[in-house]
Amino acid sequence: MPSGRVHETVNLLALPASVYFLPEPLPKLPFAAGYLVGTFWLTPDLDLATSRPSRRWGLLRLFWLPYAWLFPHRGLSHRPLLGAFTRVLYLAALAGVGLWLLDNLGYHFQIGLPLGQGWLSFFAGILVADLIHLLLDTFFEKG
Ligand SMILES: [Zn+2]
Repeated sequence: MPSGRVHETVNLLALPASVYFLPEPLPKLPFAAGYLVGTFWLTPDLDLATSRPSRRWGLLRLFWLPYAWLFPHRGLSHRPLLGAFTRVLYLAALAGVGLWLLDNLGYHFQIGLPLGQGWLSFFAGILVADLIHLLLDTFFEKG
């Protein structure tokens, strides 16, 4: 299994090509931002409580412990598309609970997330970073 540092290095080396081959209607900057988030913070290895990406969350990594308990290492979290969706949905659920708690404490927020091409491109960046991680895992598993 490649180390977290190897995953990050390979992903960073593949970033320019990934941006270059991005289909034209998708904006490149949100894609690159999503790609970096997918490389450093929302990686499949969040299924390990002590992985580099998990530790990178600092104190907030406590919120990722249930994710690591729910998803055994290299299980569903390491499936193409599905794994990335589990992390994005998990993070959205955490944010929802946090906003609900704040709302009950009297802090009211109006958050509107217009789902345009920028967000689509951001999620595409997360997905591509995820796929490169999975390819590397598969390569080292068989090699
Ligand atoms: Zn992995």
